[in-house]
Amino acid sequence: MANEPAHAPARLVIRNIGLMLSGDIGQPILDADTVVAQDGKITAVGKAKDVDTSEATVTIDANGTALAPGLIDSHVHPVAGDWTPRQNQTGWIDSCLHGGVTTMVSAGEVHMPGRPKDVAGLKAMAIFAQRAFTAFRPGGMKILAGAPVVEHGMCEEDFKELAAAGVILLGEIGLGSVKDGTTAFQMVSWARKYGIQSTIHTGGPSIPGSSLIDKDVVLAADTDVIGHINGGHTALPDDQITTICERSPRALEVVHNGNERAALLAVRTARELNHGERIILGTDCPAGSGVQPLGILRMISMLSSLGDVPAETAICFATGNTARQRKLDCGLIEAGRAANFVFLDKAQHSGGKGLLDSIQKGDLPGVGMVVIDGLVSVQRSRNTPPATVLPALVTR
Ligand SMILES: [Zn+2]
Repeated sequence: MANEPAHAPARLVIRNIGLMLSGDIGQPILDADTVVAQDGKITAVGKAKDVDTSEATVTIDANGTALAPGLIDSHVHPVAGDWTPRQNQTGWIDSCLHGGVTTMVSAGEVHMPGRPKDVAGLKAMAIFAQRAFTAFRPGGMKILAGAPVVEHGMCEEDFKELAAAGVILLGEIGLGSVKDGTTAFQMVSWARKYGIQSTIHTGGPSIPGSSLIDKDVVLAADTDVIGHINGGHTALPDDQITTICERSPRALEVVHNGNERAALLAVRTARELNHGERIILGTDCPAGSGVQPLGILRMISMLSSLGDVPAETAICFATGNTARQRKLDCGLIEAGRAANFVFLDKAQHSGGKGLLDSIQKGDLPGVGMVVIDGLVSVQRSRNTPPATVLPALVTR
């Protein structure tokens, strides 16, 4: 079920790419058909005639299909291995890999049965999760985990200690005892000082035991990411969502397990403000709504078809935007970035004229292959509708 990759191949060449989706919202489509990666990092992107494709150890013929950066899920709740106690499900991370996701970011390991809420315990659990998900990568999936949920009683020294131990994220502010803007801002500031990114639970309670975080708390806390601005599920009133978009400069995260109408409102507002680069996508799974292996693809398709977002731009929300907002080494097809890719094509029998048109018409694309760190992790997806054309491994 869950295999870890052995090591990166020396030199990967991908040729005959029909559509190069860069992940860069400033230029979502590149005039290029070839990518070369060395030891898991992209080294060249261009036209075949201009790129040195010699001495490949692995060659993939895209057969004219589209290449995009591996998708990033900005909001997941992993717990232990590839099991979630929330829905008592195994293999959920591997299933998301088949939805084109290559990187997941934890918003807190909050579904851990008996989750410790004292300061020593929550720090220990964060460090444990960071270590465990660094060492265990289902199918090769990169999981940034170890996101402690802050509680009253934490002091600056705790954040310093967490950072020194390798913790780079906070879980959603508001899922613990800290629910007021002043305390949240103090803890977010300490986290930021030591290089730890922060996020917040925006909107009504997600499950019994969690609580409302409204726009005043969101704006006062000033987290790096405004977690599920469309609620998880219960959204804030429309005027609060638009106010957050207008008054905060931070990343605006839209999730699958939220209010879809509010998602469309937030995306429309951000784009009207010319702040499209702030929009990032997550699933917020596992949750009460379950696990959505195709959740990021579904968000891309939903926002494109109902929100009038060009498909190539919606793909940037789930790739380059997230990478830039969260300072990740992936998410863009450019030299120096991690060689994480998803091959996409129009699903069989979609009414769309091509991949992008099919997404804009509301269909999901078919995933033909997934590559992480230059290694083929998945060939034809077991979960998406079948792609019309598949890429092929030419040599191993
Ligand atoms: Zn939440």
